[in-house]
Amino acid sequence: MKKVYGYIDEKFDQFVDELIDLCRYPSISAQKKGLQVCAGVLVEHIRAIGLHGEIMPMGGPDNPPLVYGRLDVPGAKRTLFIYGHFDVQPPEPLKAWETPPFQPEIRNGRIYGRGTGDNKGQFFAHLKSIEALSNAGDGVPMNLRILLDPQEEIGSPMLEDFVTKHADLFRADFGYNADGSAGEGNVPMLSFGNRGVCAVEVRTRAGSRDTHSGQFGGLMPNAACRLVDFLKTLRDESGRVRIEGFYENVLPPDDADQAAMEAIPFEQTAWLREMGLSREDGPEEWSHFEKVMFRPALNINGLTSGYGGSGPKTVIPCEALAKIDMRLVKNQTPVEIFEKFVSHARKNGFGDLEIIPQMQYYPSKTPLGHSMGRAVIAAVKDVFEREPLIYPVTGGSNPSYIFNELCGIPMVKVPYANFDESNHAPNENLSLDFFRKGIMTSARVIRDMGGL
Ligand SMILES: [Zn+2]
Repeated sequence: MKKVYGYIDEKFDQFVDELIDLCRYPSISAQKKGLQVCAGVLVEHIRAIGLHGEIMPMGGPDNPPLVYGRLDVPGAKRTLFIYGHFDVQPPEPLKAWETPPFQPEIRNGRIYGRGTGDNKGQFFAHLKSIEALSNAGDGVPMNLRILLDPQEEIGSPMLEDFVTKHADLFRADFGYNADGSAGEGNVPMLSFGNRGVCAVEVRTRAGSRDTHSGQFGGLMPNAACRLVDFLKTLRDESGRVRIEGFYENVLPPDDADQAAMEAIPFEQTAWLREMGLSREDGPEEWSHFEKVMFRPALNINGLTSGYGGSGPKTVIPCEALAKIDMRLVKNQTPVEIFEKFVSHARKNGFGDLEIIPQMQYYPSKTPLGHSMGRAVIAAVKDVFEREPLIYPVTGGSNPSYIFNELCGIPMVKVPYANFDESNHAPNENLSLDFFRKGIMTSARVIRDMGGL
């Protein structure tokens, strides 16, 4: 690796300039801005490092294209899939930025600008590692498939359909993704999976209009009461979900998962204080990390009915609405859980409620003992010179299930950005040290996995 690391050092200033240039393009998916232009710039970067590069339209002219890169190495036994996204969050509020979001600037060893950390700097580290391996080492030892997503920040609405229809383009033995921020104190971390999500909206109606609670109270059915009665059936006091069969497919943590959870530093008293709580939610027999990694959860995220403004308003509401999200774990599917939710309502006498499916993401998980996992852990440890934190699962949801679960590519995610990168916020930044280490880590990962 010495020659490769030497090349990275020698070319580092140029890599930084290239990244700064890339971050000048405002590729904002939520505002449908600049994505096509940025895709054009990226495909040139992919071609410049010796890969076949293509811009691929997804679902018609109204949707931005993804960027695809491919390298076939004669004699290579393995294929690595790399996922990144080139869309960024809207930069607003503009006044809160010290320097304009799309005029990146270096200050105190960091590049400031929208997209520097999330995610341009992180996937660009992969591209530069490939350049370094081709130009300075023994070459790239494995086939590569690269997908740069134009819509990650808005939930990648077109991606599942596109990838499942073009699965041949993405066939690979392993998948790698650099995204997110390092842990507190800039401790590097690895994530092997995500919870999925099944979100629903529940609506109920009683009568044709709101009514006077004096004139009609005791007579007129109340939509809010009806909805609350239903919500009461969903979980017990400890937070255990009462939907029949809700837990039946849940895969418990294995020994390696258990050991990894126990190794994550955690101070419960401090955590409770910081969150302003006296106790955690959830059944007592489940540990803190087990609850967010290996157990599904049901959450009411919105509740609307009647009058919530100042002063009294004595009305019987005719409409009530609840929004609910269920976070899912390995082996559960959003389709299965949605059906169970609907049948729970019917069996409990609430068949009249309207239940509308919303966002659905599958859970995904790569076993900790996977050979790729070991190679990535070794690379991160070596480059960052620190023991990384290992998360068997992170609680949120993301599109990696498309590759992991639907295409069968085991995915591992490592953040290549500093803890305080201010992603999604003003003054987003990427530490130059992290950018350099990201390039080195990717180079090491590609080299080691090529030999697996
Ligand atoms: Zn983001």
